[in-house]
Amino acid sequence: MKKSVVSSFDVDHRTLGAGLYLRSVYPINDDLAVYSWDLRFRAPMAHAPLGSGEVHTIEHLMAYYLRLDPVIGSRIVSFCPMGCKTGFYLSTMNDVDAEQIRAALAKVYAEVFPLHSADDIVGLNEVQCGNPGLYAIESTNSAMAEYMRCLYSPEEAERAGIGAIYKTSL
Ligand SMILES: [Zn+2]
Repeated sequence: MKKSVVSSFDVDHRTLGAGLYLRSVYPINDDLAVYSWDLRFRAPMAHAPLGSGEVHTIEHLMAYYLRLDPVIGSRIVSFCPMGCKTGFYLSTMNDVDAEQIRAALAKVYAEVFPLHSADDIVGLNEVQCGNPGLYAIESTNSAMAEYMRCLYSPEEAERAGIGAIYKTSL
């Protein structure tokens, strides 16, 4: 597993890199808790947050497709963008681990990306969304490929069926 996939409770945003982190644990009772995972696409303070269209597009796709994952789908509580636009929060039940999330992200990537048009973005319409005109195709493809390269080495990507993230000009 790449070094950027770790569990950490103590996050210093001055030194936080892109990656996948366990950010918070919210206990419900003796057995149950909600985990809040930090899907950090961009290093904070690097002054290169995601664009609003990219954030909205990724929110739609991940909120929908991650819930279809056979392993973690039924364990997901929510998927929300960070206001700072450097990443997303994925909330799950406490029986989900970082590797399962990484695998689920790779599965969605393999099935959905690269995007070709707005038709590829689930729920992007006036009935299901508050701002269906806000999306991005090419830059979202780049942002997702960049994030997957952060989570997967070239060899791991090949084994996970997403070797394209290292082969294309995304
Ligand atoms: Zn929307």
